[in-house]
Amino acid sequence: MQRIVLSTFFALMLGTAPFRAHADATASTASHLDLPISGNPLLHAWTAPFNAPPFEQIDVMHFAPAVEEAIRRQQEDLQRIRSQSAKPSFSNTIEALELAGRDLRRIAPVFMNLYSANSTPELQKLGATLLPTLMSNQATLFVDSALFSRVKSLYLQRDILGLNDEQKRVLERYYTQFVRGGAGLEGAERARFKTNVDRLAQLAVQFNQNLLGETNRYVLFIADREELQGLPDDVIATAAETAKMRGKEGQWAFTLQTPSRLPFLTYARNRGLRETLFKAYVARGNNGNTADNNTIIRETVRLRTENAQLLGHPTFAHFTLTENMAKTPDNVERLLMQLWTPALDNAKRERDALQQVADAAGDNLQIAAWDWWYYSEKLRQQRYAIDESALKAYFPMPAVRAGAFDVAHRLWGLSFTPRNDVPVYHPDVEVFEVHNADGSHLGLLYTDYYVRDGKRPGAWASPYRLQSALDGITTPIIVNVCNFARPTGDTPSLLSFDDVSTLFHEFGHALHGLMSNVTYPSVGGTQVPRDFVEFPSQVMENWAAQREVLQRFARHYQSGEVISGEWLDKLDAAARFNQGFAATEYLSAALLDMRYHMLSEPGEIDPQAFEKKTMRELGLIDQIAPRYTSTNFGHVFGGGYASGYYAYIWAEVLDADGFQAFRQAGLFDSDTATRLRNEVFSRGGSVDPMAAYRRFRGSEPKVDALLEKRGLQPIIDDSGEAKGTVGNETS
Ligand SMILES: [Zn+2]
Repeated sequence: MQRIVLSTFFALMLGTAPFRAHADATASTASHLDLPISGNPLLHAWTAPFNAPPFEQIDVMHFAPAVEEAIRRQQEDLQRIRSQSAKPSFSNTIEALELAGRDLRRIAPVFMNLYSANSTPELQKLGATLLPTLMSNQATLFVDSALFSRVKSLYLQRDILGLNDEQKRVLERYYTQFVRGGAGLEGAERARFKTNVDRLAQLAVQFNQNLLGETNRYVLFIADREELQGLPDDVIATAAETAKMRGKEGQWAFTLQTPSRLPFLTYARNRGLRETLFKAYVARGNNGNTADNNTIIRETVRLRTENAQLLGHPTFAHFTLTENMAKTPDNVERLLMQLWTPALDNAKRERDALQQVADAAGDNLQIAAWDWWYYSEKLRQQRYAIDESALKAYFPMPAVRAGAFDVAHRLWGLSFTPRNDVPVYHPDVEVFEVHNADGSHLGLLYTDYYVRDGKRPGAWASPYRLQSALDGITTPIIVNVCNFARPTGDTPSLLSFDDVSTLFHEFGHALHGLMSNVTYPSVGGTQVPRDFVEFPSQVMENWAAQREVLQRFARHYQSGEVISGEWLDKLDAAARFNQGFAATEYLSAALLDMRYHMLSEPGEIDPQAFEKKTMRELGLIDQIAPRYTSTNFGHVFGGGYASGYYAYIWAEVLDADGFQAFRQAGLFDSDTATRLRNEVFSRGGSVDPMAAYRRFRGSEPKVDALLEKRGLQPIIDDSGEAKGTVGNETS
């Protein structure tokens, strides 16, 4: 789940955020400095095949002048729309808005992709000024009163303008974005709204700074080797290095960062130290010092609610969700609570099993929250021990990628041809031209799979160019970026099974961009609501877990032997292990997020009391803490996930239910595949996602398939009858 969370985060960030630039071009292009515009390749026509970005000509110093010029041209475009004397029409207003800022649409993704995937200190420095510029440029568009009045007059006549469905949807989206930006408010309300927006932005920054400060401030130093018992050698070596970097050579240091904290909680035999580290992590932002986040939460919840109400919504959750697939807080609550009871029920059984492990080892303790990782690892070893390094030998990267391409070929007839004539920003990057079954060109896919300096952690998919057909036919260019192990000598990059799923996941995002078939740029590809964007990516992961598929591509990289049924059984069983815990810690955080934002009169809320009361009402057990407690819930109080943290599991419901259609009709059933392409992948944001899903699936999504996939259905005994009905702990 962690991987999904990360990749989602990045996929979403990339709608508005950064890339990185070509590292090697500095010396050769210095002369361009004299000619920031006329000699700037970013502003010229791109003449590479498919008009792809000319990476070999781009230097970091080209970006600032190019972005400045592109914004100036965009402002000119907008001024033309505002100042025209002609009455508003769909063409002179909405289509004109769609076409405004052509250069910016082309240049910004190059900068943002390079900033993330191939960064340099120069690019990082540039990003600190360029990214806020790009974001505020976007935000100011949607408070522009003159543009809003044109859009609004069209919106009010939308049913008599003779628009097709996509045009109507595009118009509605513009109208909604202006309204949500506050463009429809007047006088004191407008001023109040704007003041709140600015204040909320400051509060989010402060929340994150406090959280980061609290995360980095804490170090657990260990001087006695005895206290390292149970830790693997590589964890100990990293801890020694960490201590040395912090001036305590000869000791070992553990931090609150996940790569340091989780191995300690998983392996350290010293229970007291596990408790210390766990408590320090949970207490971040709640230590009563200058970095305390409680007052920030109080003010944030109050101001969000106030702004939602200024726009006519009862709560902030109502405001957020109208734009999502879920539509209403009730729909989200219903979904989360349908999952909550079976998840908690299973977590309790898991807790009892961990207690048995501890008892059998004679450890004489009651399982507590800081014991969960330690004893679940022991149990996992007993039940499903998987030798990860032996398994990796079956997953050399090129074969896995070919396996993903093969799935797309069998589903939709797509083919992938290497192109060595398209410029790339690093030798790791490979380019594939994607063709339809009839041989027509669909788009370009770049893969950039290996870990290296200058690449942000995690995995993501991002467009260099989105598909559209308004300004002539524009074909998509999509990149998949991952952090897989680099090949060494004769050994190819070998992937873990988690990496395999990641590759399929990002490939799913790429297909969503590549198979897009819309007219208007603003609704192309992955420009869909947050709780829908992960459906195409997650649904593709399902094929990677099918025996029939694995046996086609998972072969030992030396012997060529096909992966055995025994391995596949183990993978299957491991996928269901500890899922009660994983779902419970996630769901408790998602519910906490919802409950804060469903308050219509939050007043001066006390976050600690509110959180305790919420968890008590839910019946959360002491052995599990929410994945994020209030003061360290950066997604919600420092990022864009307020009343949106549920989106991860919402998408999981969709992908499990959606894949069920293939399990019923056949893994590569062509009618089902065609419906998935025509109703979902090709539609981008041009249709309502729930309607699109219904047309694909024939009904609205149900939670049953996800419960089964995660092994969270009520336990069935040998007689075939349910032993524990949902919500009734009887086993
Ligand atoms: Zn994703």
